[in-house]
Amino acid sequence: MSDYDFDLFVIGAGSGGVRASRVAAAHGAKVAVAEEYRVGGTCVIRGCVPKKLLIYGAHFAEDLRDARRFGWKVPDCDFEWTTLRDNVLADVDRLEGLYRNTLNSHEVELIQERATITGPHSVKLASGREVSAKYILVSTGAWPIIPDIEGAEHGVTSNEVFHLEECPKRIVIVGGGYIANEFAGIFHEFGSHVTIVNRSGTLLRGYDEQIRDRLLQISMMKGINFRFNAEMERIEKKEDGTLSVRFRNGDPIDCDLLLFATGRKPHVDGLGLENAGVELSDKGAIKVDEYSRTSCQSIYAVGDVTDRMQLTPVAIREGHAFADTVFGDNPRTVDYACVPSAVFSQPPLAGVGMTEAEARNTLGTVKIYTSDFRPMKNVLAGRDERALYKMVVDATTDRVVGLHMIGPDAPEILQAAAIAVKAGLTKQAFDDTVALHPSMAEELVLLK
Ligand code: NDP
Repeated sequence: MSDYDFDLFVIGAGSGGVRASRVAAAHGAKVAVAEEYRVGGTCVIRGCVPKKLLIYGAHFAEDLRDARRFGWKVPDCDFEWTTLRDNVLADVDRLEGLYRNTLNSHEVELIQERATITGPHSVKLASGREVSAKYILVSTGAWPIIPDIEGAEHGVTSNEVFHLEECPKRIVIVGGGYIANEFAGIFHEFGSHVTIVNRSGTLLRGYDEQIRDRLLQISMMKGINFRFNAEMERIEKKEDGTLSVRFRNGDPIDCDLLLFATGRKPHVDGLGLENAGVELSDKGAIKVDEYSRTSCQSIYAVGDVTDRMQLTPVAIREGHAFADTVFGDNPRTVDYACVPSAVFSQPPLAGVGMTEAEARNTLGTVKIYTSDFRPMKNVLAGRDERALYKMVVDATTDRVVGLHMIGPDAPEILQAAAIAVKAGLTKQAFDDTVALHPSMAEELVLLK
């Protein structure tokens, strides 16, 4: 018999925590998971999943317009935000149910309370119950950062945006990263007047420059507005509810909704980490080793709370590797090389491996191949949007070290192509593959 109530106590039932819980339980551990909000975490409840459903909803705006060029007699259509919102939220409920079932079927005890660490092996729940565990896993994710400016309380974050009472006529989105570009596309297609306000002149830092530039160009062409190098001063709320965003260097912008998309910070506040000597990095993330172990030997952490790569599939891998290492007698680390990622903008962009700039800075000689084309469907639809595919090759070895693309279905195409990049295949291997015609993806094997 163990001296502890549980073999594993997990704090946070998001992607990483749920995976770790069920795999540890499958290895025979007695597991409990504490969650103060809903099961599923950011991705399922207020992130990737509801966002992607809104993206699908938004895309109908263009599809309905394009359909006319393909012979369909489409009457003028109205968009009803509340219908989409409620259907999306209902699907989130369904998925949350599936996550709960997973925990249930693996006999993981779900404790719907806030948990605070009181020592290396102990946790106190909001109800006052004290619990001991051989190991504790922290998987509490990250939380939106709101800039410290006067009137910031009038804005919302991605936590609230899925629950709006109505679709804003005018929206200002602060930030130039993932969430800003994805929601700019969504609200623009729903008919909102969208302005992205960014503190620098750079969107989507980390992605290949040419691909980012193409997104900016297409977004502007569609009618999304951009204010770069903007120094926000304060936000005022007028009597009629209008928000006026004031700048130190430019005219104010009035809007009905202000969305902060200014990054996310590790969610560690009030967790009691100091009671067990768990160290944090300068950025406030939990410091871990390659096995996700913190500075306290019995406490581990996975996912966004460790700020390694803020991506759901990465958190899932970390949670799985942790459970195999600690409970499966199979020490495993996560390989962070060539992790593909995408921005579900309109059109979406995706990338894996090195950007051109990274390759030029780290490799001897680099060859770049690009295909800049107008997808067949866009041609007939009269849509003046060009796709751009880019391959980065190490000229010494002929190995493909990076693939970057923007265009319809780019994330779907890149996921498959990422296997080749991860496997270290050469440009010649791409060339040797016969094209699948007619498709957009065939451009990848026809690059000259
Ligand atoms: P990002 O890190 O992508 O972008 C943050 C943006 O806000 C940057 O443009 C940054 O500017 C700017 N910014 C940061 N701090 C301030 C500030 N104080 N005032 C004004 N601007 C500021 O964060 P997001 O919030 O868009 O997304 C959070 C994370 O969630 C992402 O990093 C990503 O890992 C994950 N995510 C992933 C998605 C996907 O995989 N498709 C979708 C959505 C989120 P600067 O560049 O100058 O620092």
